[in-house]
Amino acid sequence: MKKLGEEGAKCSDLVNFISTGEIEGFLLKPMNCPHHIKIFDSEHRSYRDLPVRLAEFGTVYRWEQSGELGGLTRVRSFTQDDAHLFCTPEQVGEEIQGCLGLVKKVLNTLGMNDYGVRLSLRDPDSDKYVGDPENWDKAEAALREAVQTLGVEYTEEPGEAAFYGPKIDFVVKDVIGRDWQLGTVQVDYNLPERFDLSYIGSDNKAHRPVMIHRAPFGSLERFVGLLIEHFEGKFPTWLAPEQVRILPISEKYSTEADKLAMELSEAGARVSVDHAGDKIGAKIRLARMDRIPYLAVLGAREVEENSVSVRHRDQGDLGSISTNDFVSKISQDISNRSL
Ligand code: ZN
Repeated sequence: MKKLGEEGAKCSDLVNFISTGEIEGFLLKPMNCPHHIKIFDSEHRSYRDLPVRLAEFGTVYRWEQSGELGGLTRVRSFTQDDAHLFCTPEQVGEEIQGCLGLVKKVLNTLGMNDYGVRLSLRDPDSDKYVGDPENWDKAEAALREAVQTLGVEYTEEPGEAAFYGPKIDFVVKDVIGRDWQLGTVQVDYNLPERFDLSYIGSDNKAHRPVMIHRAPFGSLERFVGLLIEHFEGKFPTWLAPEQVRILPISEKYSTEADKLAMELSEAGARVSVDHAGDKIGAKIRLARMDRIPYLAVLGAREVEENSVSVRHRDQGDLGSISTNDFVSKISQDISNRSL
């Protein structure tokens, strides 16, 4: 075991620093797990309180070597959508199923349907694994059963489990066929042991809870990097940083354009107005390069008819649409999260 600050100290050593009170002052945290454990352990827990689920979008830090850094996909400070579920051994199956359902929902909502699932199990001939073999069998069976309910292809990889428990990884394919490991669900028998966690069971005796780590996105930075590649920058309306750009044909229609922008913004849209003095053709070209989903052109006829001429990035010219219909079309796109 490494000492605090010693070269080569690992993330997992933090657990020791915290539990032995060796830390005075401040550290950048490499993981969220010990903090959630301390929250769980701050109260007496009964089996009736379980499962306890703690979740946060937590910033963590890793001193990656400069040669390993890359764009958004490998950075030194990133955000984990991290959660830790503390449950009884009997609850493991149901909790895992809930986790997988959540990961699936996240991926489907974003239209990332090309993914595989990897089930990492222990090597039965090795003695590097901690915890009761019977618990391992149960956890592996629970993971396998949960994976099968997903209805997607999965592979079993004996010997690939962490020493503290089996896990499930989601591997997503991007547009150019590269594999990315994103969401993960891990069962952990080790940390509850090392932190001496307990709850009182229905038999009035102390029992050890099981801990599940889950992160549907993994790292949000890496996920956003992958999303940009996946959509080639052409985000669906509900995800686009700028959803609508209003293009007044000339300065004369500036006030009307601002008024429409206000209406759209009140309906929940991210909208801007191109007030530049350029010709309309140039404004449209620029907006196309920025990959804005909706362009709304505003000229004399539109103002008179209370309408806009709409161009969609992927669907082309949608013709003249009344302002009211346009506003409700955008807010529908956003609330349906349509792809
Ligand atoms: Zn964790």
